[in-house]
Amino acid sequence: MENCIFCKIVRGEIPSKKVYEDNEILAFHDINPLAPVHFMMIPKLHVDSLAHVSGTHNDVLGKIMVLAPKLAEEQGCKDGFRTIINTGRVARQDVFHLHIHIIGGPDVLPPMLYRPKPA
Ligand code: AMP
Ligand code: ZN
Repeated sequence: MENCIFCKIVRGEIPSKKVYEDNEILAFHDINPLAPVHFMMIPKLHVDSLAHVSGTHNDVLGKIMVLAPKLAEEQGCKDGFRTIINTGRVARQDVFHLHIHIIGGPDVLPPMLYRPKPA
């Protein structure tokens, strides 16, 4: 994908702070971290979102899931971490190249979602 920002990172056209790389997977630190540990894991092959995956992605997505706790631990998530996949408009997905956020650090994270206050 010519203009996809994460494809550009995969191709080395935009710099990133890499956490891990192999033939199929890239992990790199979020440019605007929300916690002491905040990195992204992506399949190198472009896919818009989790709503766009098919059986052809079984292998790479399985590998990402198995790799995630290992990388999280290495990056300093010693006692747990959160994985987030924002999918589409409702989830406020910003970058349309499927990515799994890995978020954590030494401290307990805020609740996953806030209950809206009554008006
Ligand atoms: P999402 O809302 O799930 O699509 O999240 C997109 C994430 O990509 C945000 O957390 C951004 O901070 C992050 N991001 C955007 N551009 C870059 C970049 N060039 N390098 C690293 N992370 C980025
Ligand atoms: Zn892409």
